[in-house]
Amino acid sequence: MYRRYSYALSVAGFAGDIEDCYAGRLIAATDNSVYQQLPQLVIYPRHSADLQLALQLGQEQEYQELTFSPRGGGTGTNGQSLSQGIIVDLSRYFRQVLEIAPEEGWVRCQTGVVKDALNDAVRPDGWFFAPDLSTSNRATIGGMINTDASGQGSLVYGKTSDHILALQAVLINGEMIETGPMPLAEAEQKARGESLEAALYRQALATCVTHRQAIEAKFPPLNRFLTGYDLKHCYDPVLETLDLSRLLAGSEGTLAFITEAKLNLTEIPRHKVLVNISYRDFDAALRHAPVLVKAQATSVETIDSTVLDLARNDIIWHQVREHLSEGQAGQPMDGINMVEYTAVDADTLEAKLAPLLAELEAADGAHGVVGYKVCRDATSIQTIYAMRKKSVGLLGAVKGERKPIAFAEDTAVPPEALADFIVEFRQLLDQHHLKYGMFGHVDAGVLHVRPALDMKDEADEQLLRTISDQVAALTAKYGGLMWGEHGKGYRSEYAPTFFGAELYTELQKIKAAFDPENRLNPGKLATPYGHPNATLVSVDARKRGYFDRQIPVQVREHYAEAMNCNGNGLCFNYDTASPMCPSYKATGDRRFSPKGRATLIREWLRLNSDVGLDVSQAPKEGRFNPFMEVRQRHSRDFNHQVKDSMDACLACKACANQCPVKVDVPSFRAKFLQWYYSLYRRPQRDYLVANVEQLTPLMARFPRVSNALTHNPISQWLMAKGLGYVDTPKLSVPSLQQRWQQRQWPQVTVAELQQLSAAAREKAVVIVQDPFTSFYQADVVEALGQVISQLGFQPYLLQFIGNGKALHVKGFLARFRKLATQVTARLNQVAALELPMVGVDAATVLCMRDEYKDFSDLPVQFNVALPQEWLATQLQHFPEMQGSGEMPASDLFLHCTEQTAVPTSAKLWQQIFDRAAIAVKPVATGCCGMAGTYGHEREHLATSTKLYAMSWQQPMQASAQPLVTGFSCRCQVKRLQPQQKEKPQQVQHPLQLLAKQLTSA
Ligand SMILES: Cc1cc2nc3c(=O)[nH]c(=O)nc-3n(C[C@H](O)[C@H](O)[C@H](O)COP(=O)(O)OP(=O)(O)OC[C@H]3O[C@@H](n4cnc5c(N)ncnc54)[C@H](O)[C@@H]3O)c2cc1C
Ligand code: SF4
Ligand code: SF4
Repeated sequence: MYRRYSYALSVAGFAGDIEDCYAGRLIAATDNSVYQQLPQLVIYPRHSADLQLALQLGQEQEYQELTFSPRGGGTGTNGQSLSQGIIVDLSRYFRQVLEIAPEEGWVRCQTGVVKDALNDAVRPDGWFFAPDLSTSNRATIGGMINTDASGQGSLVYGKTSDHILALQAVLINGEMIETGPMPLAEAEQKARGESLEAALYRQALATCVTHRQAIEAKFPPLNRFLTGYDLKHCYDPVLETLDLSRLLAGSEGTLAFITEAKLNLTEIPRHKVLVNISYRDFDAALRHAPVLVKAQATSVETIDSTVLDLARNDIIWHQVREHLSEGQAGQPMDGINMVEYTAVDADTLEAKLAPLLAELEAADGAHGVVGYKVCRDATSIQTIYAMRKKSVGLLGAVKGERKPIAFAEDTAVPPEALADFIVEFRQLLDQHHLKYGMFGHVDAGVLHVRPALDMKDEADEQLLRTISDQVAALTAKYGGLMWGEHGKGYRSEYAPTFFGAELYTELQKIKAAFDPENRLNPGKLATPYGHPNATLVSVDARKRGYFDRQIPVQVREHYAEAMNCNGNGLCFNYDTASPMCPSYKATGDRRFSPKGRATLIREWLRLNSDVGLDVSQAPKEGRFNPFMEVRQRHSRDFNHQVKDSMDACLACKACANQCPVKVDVPSFRAKFLQWYYSLYRRPQRDYLVANVEQLTPLMARFPRVSNALTHNPISQWLMAKGLGYVDTPKLSVPSLQQRWQQRQWPQVTVAELQQLSAAAREKAVVIVQDPFTSFYQADVVEALGQVISQLGFQPYLLQFIGNGKALHVKGFLARFRKLATQVTARLNQVAALELPMVGVDAATVLCMRDEYKDFSDLPVQFNVALPQEWLATQLQHFPEMQGSGEMPASDLFLHCTEQTAVPTSAKLWQQIFDRAAIAVKPVATGCCGMAGTYGHEREHLATSTKLYAMSWQQPMQASAQPLVTGFSCRCQVKRLQPQQKEKPQQVQHPLQLLAKQLTSA
């Protein structure tokens, strides 16, 4: 039936995308929850007409069984967007901000817009969309409306539903409606019609007006009020209005598809202060919170001692400790409240703040306060919030099989009852001997806790059910809610308890008015009144752990980088100026994201285990075999679907460094490719890449001849058509060897280094070559030599010994292991001489730091420093230098791998250039799109060009003096912005500018 529907939809002129392949469905089978439900089809409508078409077709008799579930960013923590039917994903094409009215303070946008992207659009006019949520760089407005999202500062900034002015929505029959506050008389008039919309008004009036008393009595007076269908705010008895938007907000896709929203904006507070109050323990912090709320704070956030200890043991503590009061000697500090004050003008801010500061001054140990510190500048405020964020990430990165799980993570109780509630909550978790850390929005009585469980273990799965029931009962006892922030999803089975019999029946009637046949996200929140078969979903629904436990332990361990993905979706970051994840950003296809790839690999492991194949063992790595099976282009073989997803990866490693649990795609991608090519024939060009480190040094002996042979029109045509390689660079002329000879600097082997006298060693700096810069951009290595020499050292060019990064990227793992071991043996010998080693190319240096650890058969005892790492330790050797008035400001474009793996890089370069009297400004960019061989591969040219346009083109155009650290990036600029060469200062490595400056000093 789904196949027929999908065919009929495409024939009917559906302009969006239809995914019915296994990989395309799998990536929509999970969110950030523990659940896994495989949809039969995923569709991505391009516009509202497309969506209407899909739903109207669904009305035909033969498709009556089909169900439709909306999906946005897929960051729900309770399986809200999961379904075994059809997923309708609006995040791919509904991304337009349609209208901004700065004078009136509102914005109209499509609902697939990511929350931070919306704020980027309205920020220039001094506004922001206030409801906050931690997933703001990937959650969509549609998802926020449907979960009624909120977060820090909700007492002042409210929930999403508080900011909705109007909505446009498509109903199950394809009819489109507009909602907004409507005078009661008009609503009653509307309710008299025959349409589906009229039926909605009839029911809304019948429920929300008639049952007003019961509603007032049932909805707890909480900032995080009872979400579901918001019966309380749908009818406003003071203004005498009815607003269906309020029923849609929080409805989790069970009533309609919301396509557009007109939203209220808030003025950006220009002044902010953070008061960090330290307490002797967490309980004292919680008990003091209501006092702080009364003191007009914008928000009060808290963290417990577990989270605090994680921060204490992390590098971040060095930055935050000066902003936190540790209390007097002998006094423990085991809880913090972070109290934020904001205002649009400084006087108002000070007026708000003064009473609290006076009270704290006078506190003298009252409320368990051991001290406090005030952060007034944006940087220190950010540092404190970064600590909170990071330590929460650290909670998620715990070792062992039990991992923090979201299922009771957003309870809300009246803030004054929070401390007592938490005492009981802790007892409950401690009884089960669980590990957990707590943090939350104490001002709103919301607590975040994710107990660590192993969902592969059936006993732990059972424990999840037990704890869920206990937490539901505990929150009810305190007059609170189990879902204070993240919605209901598979926790919907508790809805009847929280709403009570009378109001739950009203919810069912509302559901029945919108969706009588239970076809919209069925089972969530409420079943349609009177429907004979409809049931609510339950926390016992099929979970990811069920599938994961089918993979043998040794295979899970071998592919831990993929198994550990917890689905939080940080890798869907929309921001083009951030390195994570270029292949997803360029395509908008979640198969091509770290989460997508981890999901596909897990299933690939499971299916292989099913047929008895142990992919934790290495397969035989063959040479070119013309008789091997060639991939069938249109086969539905899942191997190929996984391969397609891996092929789109640029191996930039942003995931390995920026994912909170370090999901390292290049690592499992290499293992997958090794297996894949034991089954299918490799393209010949892979062999060329694999041998590049042997070939290039030979060709570089005669660079002019080699360039003439490789860069004439016939060879270029053959390279492009035969091997699929385009725009390959030319070898440097003169070669590095010639440059070194000219300068009379030594070129040495390891044995020759061992012969150096003690005096020579004192001054020696060893340059470890890489196969790219040395042969294709020798001037950069020469610049490194110049800098070393200007600082009073002797540069020694170590004979090229290889690196093997390309072997790893292409999955030639046996050869990579061999080479990594050889290189390690040599460099360990250099390290034994205690000579500093520097390598220019970040990607290859970091490969030695990272991949060698796993592959070298010898322990890695050497460290090759990046130029900035070594230079930053030599600042005392810099001569006194004067800035030149003529020199334009320099912009630093860092290689994306370097940005994420060595996050201090920009700072180090700034320190170095400060010393050289040159102002350098780091530019926020993502991946340039080249990433080694990726951008040279013909089939990737379009994506590579798109990536460059997304984040590099504009700042590069604007830069008078661009400094670019990556070899690939410089090649990309040269190929895609050749006019850059016309500028007085060419695109150069920072070392080249530094060398000039030192020479002229
Ligand atoms: C690490 C982490 C931290 C989080 N922190 C917060 C937080 O601080 N505050 C908070 O409120 N939440 C938080 N969440 C939960 C989640 O991010 C929010 O619920 C978010 O609003 C979901 O948005 P989404 O676009 O990902 O929606 P999805 O998860 O895709 O969908 C959520 C629900 O909305 C429905 N839906 C989506 N779009 C539409 C549409 N256009 N029309 C109709 N229905 C639609 C779906 O069917 C589903 O029921 C967090 C989640 C994670 C993983
Ligand atoms: S890959 Fe990392 S960032 Fe992406 S969803 Fe998985 S755990 Fe989160
Ligand atoms: S290596 Fe880069 S392109 Fe590949 S999944 Fe990770 S972030 Fe995405």
